[in-house]
Amino acid sequence: MTGKRKNRCSFCGRSEDEVALMLTGLNGFICNDCVHQAEQIVRESMGGGKRNKADNAAGIDMDELPKPHDIKAFLDQYVIGQDSAKRYLSVAVYNHYKRLAQMVDDDGVEIEKSNIIMVGPTGTGKTLLARTIAKQLKVPFTIVDATIFTEAGYVGEDVESILTRLLQVADYDVAATERGIVFIDEIDKIARKQDNPSITRDVSGEGVQQGLLKLLEGSIVNVPPKGGRKHPDQDYIHVDTRNILFICGGAFDGIERKIAQRLNTHVVGYDSVQNQQHIDTKNLMKYIVPQDLKSFGLIPEIIGRLPVLTYLDPLDRDALRRILTEPKNSLVRQQVKLFQMDGIKLTFEEDALDYIVDKAVEYKLGARGLRSIMETIMIEAQFDAPSGKEKELNITRQYAERQITKSERLKE
Ligand code: ADP
Repeated sequence: MTGKRKNRCSFCGRSEDEVALMLTGLNGFICNDCVHQAEQIVRESMGGGKRNKADNAAGIDMDELPKPHDIKAFLDQYVIGQDSAKRYLSVAVYNHYKRLAQMVDDDGVEIEKSNIIMVGPTGTGKTLLARTIAKQLKVPFTIVDATIFTEAGYVGEDVESILTRLLQVADYDVAATERGIVFIDEIDKIARKQDNPSITRDVSGEGVQQGLLKLLEGSIVNVPPKGGRKHPDQDYIHVDTRNILFICGGAFDGIERKIAQRLNTHVVGYDSVQNQQHIDTKNLMKYIVPQDLKSFGLIPEIIGRLPVLTYLDPLDRDALRRILTEPKNSLVRQQVKLFQMDGIKLTFEEDALDYIVDKAVEYKLGARGLRSIMETIMIEAQFDAPSGKEKELNITRQYAERQITKSERLKE
């Protein structure tokens, strides 16, 4: 019996018929199974003993992760100022990865979760920071608004629906959800309404805080897969929140008063004169401590579960001016791009931009105001230019003023 001699894997000896794929080398063959095995051996011996390889449950390879400096540099491209908050966030996210990558049997040192709370006036970039960091994250991320939650039994959503959203982002992959990050906006809105906790039922306050506490401290939570309210005959998904990182943000309107009060009582001491000189009364927020959150109406247990406290600076004129042009997707860049798509070269004169800032300050709308002012100035050009012949458009201060005056007149 003759016939073609079958090629055999030089490693396991199996013939072509017995394997899915046979690769041919100069002096031998290798089958797909042996390739796979060889790869594993190479991996183990090359990465040998290195604890931070992607051999943890989360598949996180510490070598490939952006470091806090990298994360902050990324945030810098989109968010102006807010250095303190950026640093805290960068470290928190990095540590979150570290926690996920830590080996269970390592050395008994378990890295604890460090949920964050960011305090700062509205429109200073809290949500923007959260959204921006989300672009870089390697874990599921969602933003929820604390104002939609109410205590069980009242109209509104249960706090568990936070996890429903995270599950949805993770395509209902429970393991991935359990490693995710949640940004809870407007956390100050669930503060207890001042110092009369038990006189009336505080629907939106303490009850919700208690509910939230369960999630923050890490427990197995029954999550309604579709969100909304829980009801008895529903199937639940069990989600362990131990490794979910929570970042909270809130404006905490009026908290400066609490800070000032506390600082005052502190400076009454013998070194009061010396202390007072150091206090920057224009930005009291930077002196915030957990105790102030308590005075504002957050329960101590919640504060204890948000150990990293950072603040955002109010945006001054200079910051507003930079926000117009510097971020990667700044308002000016967006307008330029819109016109570019019609083949029109759009430019802004410096004093036109100064004028936009003046108006934003005048309207007291902060960075949010910049956008609506820009839109008002540009609406006419956006309507006319695409059908016109001009290939260039330069926005001067006079032009900007004229457009704003026109719109103000229309509103009268
Ligand atoms: P909040 O602090 O209330 O969450 P946001 O992050 O939603 O404020 O800010 C509103 C808008 O204002 C953002 O979408 C962004 O366009 C702009 N903005 C606010 N702060 C900054 C900042 N520090 N750098 C760049 N843009 C900012």
